[in-house]
Amino acid sequence: MSLLRSITTNVATEPSVKRQQRQALRAPMELQLTLPSLLGGTLDRDLVLQRFHELISTDLDIAHLDLIDHAEHYRFSRGVSAGHQIQYQLKIEHEHLATLTMTRSHPFNEHEMIWLEQAIVHLLIPLKHALQYAEALAQAMCDGLTGIGNRRAMNQALSRCIHSSQRHERISSLLIVDIDHFKSINDQHGHALGDQVLILLAKTLQSALRLTDQAFRYGGEEFVLLLPETPIPGAHIVGERLRQAVDGMNIQGIQPTVSIGLASLRPDDNVNTWLNRADQALYQAKHQGRNRMVDDSQLIA
Ligand code: GH3
Ligand code: MG
Ligand code: MG
Repeated sequence: MSLLRSITTNVATEPSVKRQQRQALRAPMELQLTLPSLLGGTLDRDLVLQRFHELISTDLDIAHLDLIDHAEHYRFSRGVSAGHQIQYQLKIEHEHLATLTMTRSHPFNEHEMIWLEQAIVHLLIPLKHALQYAEALAQAMCDGLTGIGNRRAMNQALSRCIHSSQRHERISSLLIVDIDHFKSINDQHGHALGDQVLILLAKTLQSALRLTDQAFRYGGEEFVLLLPETPIPGAHIVGERLRQAVDGMNIQGIQPTVSIGLASLRPDDNVNTWLNRADQALYQAKHQGRNRMVDDSQLIA
């Protein structure tokens, strides 16, 4: 384990008011007795950091605590920044875990820094475990080839969307996007290039979406787009934009097209009935000649 400390002072932002008398720091022995069980008792990274923050901010008058993981995928931030900053690079066996930055209105003295570092030492292992756990959970929801959500993530998102749409009486939409004649793309150009088409298509789907929308890999060459609080006309615009974007693609001579089935949520829908209607609409789009979109209102009963 190692901690690399750096200290900066921004005098310009230091308040001129005299600071209040602080409480005494709790004894190192107390840290040793309370911190391991307090921080190691959960794998929830937010909770680990929240507990750490509560403890040190009381003893050290911390105004702002910020932690960012090594990959810069996760950030925990509490409070409002102040003029005196202390920063640590948290490492375990040369592996960079995170950068921890704290600020307050007055400088840290040597005694406080030693105390803080004793507290941080107890944070390292619980934090490492909690970050690894979050990473494993994210991986379990990810499609290995394209990096977008997998079917498990899709089922969860659809189920959540159904509940919230029904509670707020809002209409959400779902699109199933299926690559046309993908089998012959594989047959003519090889499986590796077929994979590239899937990767690029996933990227195109994501860039066509708004922040609240989500894309998932449903199966081999089928993707699902979930558009919360989007009735049919809005979903048509998204789907059509996407269909055209794919129609303009050229991947080493491959010009893929997609067919799209669109279904808006009905009040009595569950995940299966909603997906089934989008699937039937997709079937119609294939039947009508491919490279097109059909919505469930166009289905013949
Ligand atoms: P349609 O227009 O009717 O959708 O025809 P299609 O050929 O796209 O559909 P079909 O279901 O016959 O074939 C799907 C193909 O997708 C067959 C399968 O080998 C291929 N596939 C599934 N997963 C992957 C993958 O991960 N990588 C590659 N390269 N191909 C895949
Ligand atoms: Mg298919
Ligand atoms: Mg297909």
